[in-house]
Amino acid sequence: MGCFDSVMVPCPKCGKKHEFQSKSGRCCLDEYELADAPSDVMENVNRHAPRECECGCLYKVDEATRTPIEVGVAEKNEKMAQQYRTLAATMLEDLARKVLDGEVTTVQFSWDGGAGLKITTR
Ligand SMILES: [Zn+2]
Repeated sequence: MGCFDSVMVPCPKCGKKHEFQSKSGRCCLDEYELADAPSDVMENVNRHAPRECECGCLYKVDEATRTPIEVGVAEKNEKMAQQYRTLAATMLEDLARKVLDGEVTTVQFSWDGGAGLKITTR
């Protein structure tokens, strides 16, 4: 349960290695380098990709060539959009619960310039 194998993949920009977890291999908590990872482990290596390095580079593994590659702007934006969607959904659920509990009776959404969306409750 909850087991996986790890492949250490260097960042294409700064070279720092990060752990990529895969669940497609034997999942015995084995740790591999990109060059020696078995192909069954490689199948699932991008399970949590793209991965962000401390240097700001967002990357994944090109499975065919076993090469770390920086992802493009579209993929970066998609990942960010997913994070925002999750965050917004969590905030709205929390707000809905407060309304149902009678803790909040008025909800007002407004655009607060640079600060973004502003939610006022009473
Ligand atoms: Zn890096």
